[in-house]
Amino acid sequence: MAWDVIEKTAGTRRASNMPDYEAARRQFTWTEARRMLDGLPGGRGLNIAHEAVDRHAAGPLAGKLALRWLGRNGTVRDFTYDELRRQTSRFAGVLTRLGVQPGDVVASLCARIPELYIAALGTLKCGAVFSPLFSAFGPEPIHTRLEKAQARVLVTTASLYRRKVSDIRARLPHLEHVIVVPGEAADAPAGTHNLRQLLDAADDRFVIPATQPESLALLHFTSGTTGQPKGAMHVHEAVVAHHGTTRTALDLRPDDRFWCTADPGWVTGTSYGIVGPLTVGATGIVDEADFDAERWYRILQQERVTVWYTAPTAIRMLMKAGVDLARRFPAPDLRFIASVGEPLNPEAVVWGVEAFGLPFHDNWWQTETGGIMIANFASMDVRPGSMGRPLPGVDIAVVRRTGDDTVDVVTDPGTVGELAIVPGWPSMFRGYLRDEARYRRSFAGGYYLTGDLVRMDPNGYCWFVGRDNDVIKSSGHLIGPFEVESALMEHPAVAEATVIGKPDPMAYEIVKAFVALKPGHEASETLRLELIGFARTRLGAAVAPKEIDVLPGLPKTRSGKIMRRLLKARELGLPEGDLSTLEPEPAAGTSTSGGTS
Ligand code: AMP
Repeated sequence: MAWDVIEKTAGTRRASNMPDYEAARRQFTWTEARRMLDGLPGGRGLNIAHEAVDRHAAGPLAGKLALRWLGRNGTVRDFTYDELRRQTSRFAGVLTRLGVQPGDVVASLCARIPELYIAALGTLKCGAVFSPLFSAFGPEPIHTRLEKAQARVLVTTASLYRRKVSDIRARLPHLEHVIVVPGEAADAPAGTHNLRQLLDAADDRFVIPATQPESLALLHFTSGTTGQPKGAMHVHEAVVAHHGTTRTALDLRPDDRFWCTADPGWVTGTSYGIVGPLTVGATGIVDEADFDAERWYRILQQERVTVWYTAPTAIRMLMKAGVDLARRFPAPDLRFIASVGEPLNPEAVVWGVEAFGLPFHDNWWQTETGGIMIANFASMDVRPGSMGRPLPGVDIAVVRRTGDDTVDVVTDPGTVGELAIVPGWPSMFRGYLRDEARYRRSFAGGYYLTGDLVRMDPNGYCWFVGRDNDVIKSSGHLIGPFEVESALMEHPAVAEATVIGKPDPMAYEIVKAFVALKPGHEASETLRLELIGFARTRLGAAVAPKEIDVLPGLPKTRSGKIMRRLLKARELGLPEGDLSTLEPEPAAGTSTSGGTS
């Protein structure tokens, strides 16, 4: 099936939260959006957790289901808004008693378990900064981020602590407290606090201290082409965008049952897996288990999910499992489905119609923007393959950088340039932690520059073309080449390493590494497998390369820079381009290549 446009009926438009996009763009102000929230009682400022939980718990929604957690093995745990208020208050009290101060960083390293949600909201309540880490990271990415954040507290599980943290703890001088969700044995490892015991002993009433719209609230790590990951800092005012965009771009209402499949270790899982739906007063579904097509269809059906927010890799895996499987589990309550994180192929958008009677609505944003910036809205015709149009209150342009602080705006529709956004939306990052220079480099000519190449069509729809840099998107996760290269370089046999994103039909890209060996080491299949295992142990499965080629040497410019571009072109069988700066390469001969499987 091929569709250029999937038109919406007049009924669908009227029934949506934003029936008329053009009118909404004309009338929208962030000041009005702010009025939809309450603010802390007594005019003491603004706090994300108050807007998400406490204000509902103090009103008619107190007994309403806020979160339903589906355990891997069939356990279900329900939290009403009032129960969530009590649990998060206890956690905020625990942190306060441990001496955590406003602005201190509390990090989490948990799979999708209820305690992660309690810790996130409880941290925000006590005025500290919440920084989630992905539980599939290995010890090195965990260490880099905890150290950079100077985290004082880490919330994790006994099992993750033993496997990934205990060995690096001595290298984390700022980490004073590790709070552990005990395992089956109900014990907490030596040198950690037992979360269950702390929560049981805490008071379930907690008065949120004054936090201002500009008080730091969230610290999300993201990757660039060079250097260590960057800590994007977000403030409590971000909740204005979380709430507003959840209503407009995801069309969410209080009577919805919403399932965001993203892991809170990444920004989508926090902004829309925790904060957004709760601020709206909806019910959020959380599934602990990993992707499984049949399980997912059962959840959509049995939990009567009405709005579903997922990602292209998952959609492609569902497509692979076949439309018949989807049809075996009709989900008549589903009314809006959306996707984010990577380019969503037009076929996937249209497949939504075959499988669910609804197109997937692609939307675009990134860690730095804190919330959705561009979307196919419920009231708008969907153009499969396009990311949609900018949110009301968000002004975008397609630009070309012409100098350190200057850009040219591309006015020709269809011409490719970098996606740029006029600063000023509430969830915009306020800086990269301890890296002011890098933050400043993200702005030019009065715009924030996103690093994404796009084109805009004459209807104002935005189309993704590629990244302007070498960061890799794999299964929706942004991976910085430097972090992977640094880990490979620690292997005693490796002299040089570089990595590229290799296109992949499921994951969009996979991490592929190229290494050259030190003298005295021979390329062999055994060594290649050893390198893959070495990288996986250090980096974790989410970041480690899936494929490694051992080459006699890596192609370099005459100034000594490894030419990733050339390796990528060779990998893809594309023209090698301008090689005038290429240093003569070592003769081929002893190379091994291949993947993990
Ligand atoms: P992250 O900061 O990890 O959320 O990754 C953000 C990046 O993911 C963006 O800068 C894009 O490169 C990519 N991305 C996010 N959403 C989309 C989308 N709808 N289409 C294409 N790329 C996307």
